[in-house]
Amino acid sequence: MDSMQSFWPVSHRADDFWVCMSCLTEVFYRKVPMPDCPSCHGVSSYEGFTLESIREWGTEELIGKAVAAQEAAMVAQPAAEAAAPVEATD
Ligand SMILES: [Zn+2]
Repeated sequence: MDSMQSFWPVSHRADDFWVCMSCLTEVFYRKVPMPDCPSCHGVSSYEGFTLESIREWGTEELIGKAVAAQEAAMVAQPAAEAAAPVEATD
């Protein structure tokens, strides 16, 4: 069925992109994975950034993930967080 990954929705801030500060390879839009980072398993390692900020210091891969995450969120139904087509981790 759906991905095993679960998320906390976070949508009330301007810095909507949540980047894992431990591995800097995971970014999510308006949500953070729980209970830990799917890549490095860091807990509470996410910090919020704007896409503009990520473009300044992020890697091409990270920026690409951020854009893809935002686009995925845009096409998803606003109230369907639990059923959103979340990108699986590689
Ligand atoms: Zn991580």
